[in-house]
Amino acid sequence: MRHETQAGRVALVTGASRGIGRAIAAKLGAEGFGVAVNCASNVEAGQQTAKLVEDAGGRAVVIQADIGKAEDRQRLVQQTIDQLGPISLLVNNAGVAPKVRADLLETSEDSYDFVLDTNLKGPFFLTQMVARHMMAQPTRDAGEPRQAIVNVTSISAYAISVNRGEYCISKAGLSMMTQLFAARLAKEGIQVFEIRPGVIETDMTGPVKAKYDKLIFEDDLLPMPRWGQPDDIANAVVAIARCLLPYSTGQVLDVDGGFHLRRL
Ligand code: NAP
Repeated sequence: MRHETQAGRVALVTGASRGIGRAIAAKLGAEGFGVAVNCASNVEAGQQTAKLVEDAGGRAVVIQADIGKAEDRQRLVQQTIDQLGPISLLVNNAGVAPKVRADLLETSEDSYDFVLDTNLKGPFFLTQMVARHMMAQPTRDAGEPRQAIVNVTSISAYAISVNRGEYCISKAGLSMMTQLFAARLAKEGIQVFEIRPGVIETDMTGPVKAKYDKLIFEDDLLPMPRWGQPDDIANAVVAIARCLLPYSTGQVLDVDGGFHLRRL
């Protein structure tokens, strides 16, 4: 169902060609948002996402840009504004796992840079740029937040995997980044949230599906014994986009089937 209150608003969703980002883009389209569908290289998949957005009632543009690169980030934001209008929602969703899972004592600098550039440095400077843009909008009302930034982290922000330490570090950093920008931007009427997914069924978890099938269905990993779906994350973004949490900022939304609960 389309919610007219969101019509005319614009969202930039990084890494929206596949997986969680695609689901977020489609749900925002159904809310009436214009959506900038960012991808790293898979433009064809981005176009499939754009069709989902449009079929749901929103406008969409596909923008290839590597968020780890400064000039690409600049172009991404400018093209979004030029083609859709001022941005009122940024979703820092794009993320990568290490290409090779290696023990902490074997982590290469190349892998560290690849993961940190994409998962932390990119979102930091994109947030900085979009926040300045949001603050410059003449129609904004600091009393009622209508602008928001969402960072998609992971249970790896606090759960340790010694064979992909660089991923854990990137997500822990993104979690702190959420709190920093939340504190800085609260008076500006811009909310900043962290959504912390658990184990979600996407291309990213494809290579480890058998491992997690066993953990979820045989080894009691999760209080809620099922795989998370991209729509589970997208629904949390919609709650923020609809401004259903107007007196919250810096909040962590765990979307993890209860993984974070400490159990005896
Ligand atoms: P995915 O299926 O592997 O999709 C990754 C998306 O990010 C793709 O759209 C990809 O674009 C894009 N991307 C990768 N590097 C990029 C870059 N440098 N610049 C711009 N876009 C880039 O991943 P996912 O599972 O949906 O994960 C989405 C987010 O959720 C990530 O931040 C991930 O860390 C987080 N997360 C996932 C899980 C899980 O279980 N799946 C759990 C916790 C957290 P291309 O299509 O062009 O490659």
